[in-house]
Amino acid sequence: MRFNKDLEIKRAMVIYAHPDDAEFSVAGTVAKWAKAGVEITYCMVTNGASGSQDPDMTREKLRDMRYAEQREAAKVLGVKHVVFLGYEDGYLYPTLEVRKDVARQVRIHKPDVILAMDPRFRVADEGYINHPDHIAAGEVALRTINPDASTRQMFPELWRDEKLEPHKPKALFLETFGDGGTVVDISDTMATKIRALLLHRSQLGPEAEGFVRDWNKRTGKSAGYKFGESFQVIMIDRPPAAETKPRRRARPAGAASKGGARARRSVPRTSRPRAPAAAAARRSGVRGRRSR
Ligand SMILES: [Zn+2]
Repeated sequence: MRFNKDLEIKRAMVIYAHPDDAEFSVAGTVAKWAKAGVEITYCMVTNGASGSQDPDMTREKLRDMRYAEQREAAKVLGVKHVVFLGYEDGYLYPTLEVRKDVARQVRIHKPDVILAMDPRFRVADEGYINHPDHIAAGEVALRTINPDASTRQMFPELWRDEKLEPHKPKALFLETFGDGGTVVDISDTMATKIRALLLHRSQLGPEAEGFVRDWNKRTGKSAGYKFGESFQVIMIDRPPAAETKPRRRARPAGAASKGGARARRSVPRTSRPRAPAAAAARRSGVRGRRSR
C-alpha cells in the first residue's frame, strides 16, 4: 500500500503496552491498512493482568481473558500476527530484556512502519496521568528503531544464534491524540474499530463507543474527514529536503547508514502531544482500573 509518495507500506508493527491500547488508539488505521493488504503484527508487551478492581479476579485469569479479547479484536481488524511478550502489566520498564524481546520481533516481522505511543506524553490537563507501561512501551519502540533492531552489534546473539538480521523500519508513526500531525482518514473503518474495541469486555462497556467516536470525529474534522486518527510521522533517515536548511547531523555523514541522519518531521513539534481531550473521556468511559 502506498501511504504517500515517499512511503510504501507492506508490513506494519503495532507496539503497545496492553491488550486494548491499540484498539483505542490506532485500530481504524490498522483496519484500513489490513484491508489494503498490509501485513500487520501486534506486539503487546504486557499481559494486561492488572486491569481489574474485582477482588475475586486473579492475575492469571485476567491475563487469559485479555489475551483472548485481544486475539478476537485483532481478528476483526485483519491483523495477521499477535505477539504477547508477557511482561507483567503495571511493572514495565524499558529494560535490556524487554528491548531485546521487541527487537527480536522487529527482526522477525520486518515492518516498514512501527506504530507506537509517544513516550514524551506524561500528563494531560484534563487530569489524566499516562500509564507508566505506555511510556515504557513507547520508549522501547523508539529504541528498537535506533539502535536495538537495526544495529548488528546490538544484541549480537539475535543475529549469531537466532539468525535474525538487523532491520530498520522506514517510518515511525507516533500517536498524537488528535493534537496535530498527519491525520489518517478512518471513516470507512470506524465501525470496525468500534467493534474491535468493544470486544475488550473485561475493560470497558458499550459506553466507550461514544467518547471514542467523538474523539475520532474531532480528529477527522481537522483534516476534512468524518473520522480520523492522527500521527506524528517520522521518516527514518530521510535526507533533508533540498529547499530546507541543512540540519546538523548527529553523526558524521559517513555514518548516516547507521542511523545518524535525522529525518525531517512532517509536522514540526516542539512539545509532546498536549492534553488529549480523549484521555479524560476515556477515564470516565472505562469501567476497569485502567484509563485506556
Ligand atoms: Zn494501556
